[in-house]
Amino acid sequence: MYWENELETLERTDLEKLQVARLKKTIQAAMNSPYYKNLYTQLGLSADSVKSAADIRKLPFTTKQNLRDNFPYGFLGLPQKELIRLHSSSGTTGNPTVIFHNRHDIDSWANLMARSLYCAGIRDTDVFQNISGYGLFTGGLGFQYGIERLGCLSIPAGAGNSPRQIKLMQDYGTTVAHAIPSYLNRLYEVFLEEGLDPKKDTKLHTFVIGAEPHTEEQRQRIQEMFGVKAYNSFGLSEMNGPGVAFECTYQNGLHIWEDAYLVEIVNPDTLEPVPDGEIGELVMTTLDREAMPLIRYRTRDLTRILPGECPCGRTHARLDRITGRSDDMFIIKGCNVFPMQIEGVLMKLPEVGSDYMITLDTINGADEVLLEVEVKKDWFNGDVNRLEKLSRTITALVRDEILVKPIVKLVEPGSLPKPEGKAVRVKELRKALNS
Ligand code: AMP
Ligand code: ZN
Repeated sequence: MYWENELETLERTDLEKLQVARLKKTIQAAMNSPYYKNLYTQLGLSADSVKSAADIRKLPFTTKQNLRDNFPYGFLGLPQKELIRLHSSSGTTGNPTVIFHNRHDIDSWANLMARSLYCAGIRDTDVFQNISGYGLFTGGLGFQYGIERLGCLSIPAGAGNSPRQIKLMQDYGTTVAHAIPSYLNRLYEVFLEEGLDPKKDTKLHTFVIGAEPHTEEQRQRIQEMFGVKAYNSFGLSEMNGPGVAFECTYQNGLHIWEDAYLVEIVNPDTLEPVPDGEIGELVMTTLDREAMPLIRYRTRDLTRILPGECPCGRTHARLDRITGRSDDMFIIKGCNVFPMQIEGVLMKLPEVGSDYMITLDTINGADEVLLEVEVKKDWFNGDVNRLEKLSRTITALVRDEILVKPIVKLVEPGSLPKPEGKAVRVKELRKALNS
């Protein structure tokens, strides 16, 4: 039933005991790093400061800025000879974020990944194609180690080159693939261009999708196009990468592995815990990492803990789909808008193609939302009246959702920019914000 029977189904009281013991160990390990040693000594904090999981609130938060300011070694608690790998963000703005791992950390991560995949119904009989960049990005090696630990035949395909991805799927009878959702829409178009139907011409039955925000509507589309089940996978490089939270076969939220992470949901403004079930910022503490423990890391991701028990029997809490990051939200004409609200509207419409772009611009002195939407080929080449009608429908539905009337432009499939990695949904060109 489970990858690790005991750990995945621990009674909540036992789980909390394990968390407290691991938290104490984590604080001790953290105090070997210059950053935490200095901070906790100043504040008179130590492993003895925590007696329950709730005592975590006595400790200060850690932010991405703290990581950047102490780049590269300020958070490292072990000598370099103990380390076996690092992963880092691209660092296009300021210092990159780097996470170091020792052998234990890599082993524990591989195990969490294998547990996650098993939880989504993937077994050692599967052929697993990992459509993800290998290298410093964690989606490559992070998945690779988990796939191997589980015992699937792995195809380390890397990202991009859709015709090659399709060929690999056909040559080796791929049954499971992992990719970012925005890419899968494009991959489907290439299937069609090649005169293939993934439902008939592949053995795919499962996708693992994650690494970027996406809506339930997007998931439904992917499932229908490919005739698969698509499971949501959540992670961030500061917490290893993938393998932090994963959907089980009930697809009703993402089990977050609480033996490895202590989870809090806080109000991003007051930083106080929100009542159970309310949306707030996810704050996480590593409980099983030796080289570079992070305590109360503010992820900026907005979500909530779902109430109730999961029929699968796992006792670890379930996170709701991430609605976005607090820094993704934009304010236009006084309204707070998340890009996923717009995606939710678009992906319900069968005429809409795979991509869209939201541009915020100042036009004749007023702030406007320009919404470019790719339309499926047969629609785009069809009747102009039909396109105008679609444009009016999108305008009205988006206005109802975000309370601001967008300027909608329907564009040809494939015409919007396709970044190599995660989708970029919003372009900010407003004068007032940029001056
Ligand atoms: P990175 O550290 O570059 O892998 O990026 C991690 C970030 O990607 C997270 O903090 C989230 O904002 C986002 N992310 C990862 N997985 C998901 C997911 N399943 N749903 C929504 N956002 C996600
Ligand atoms: Zn479950």
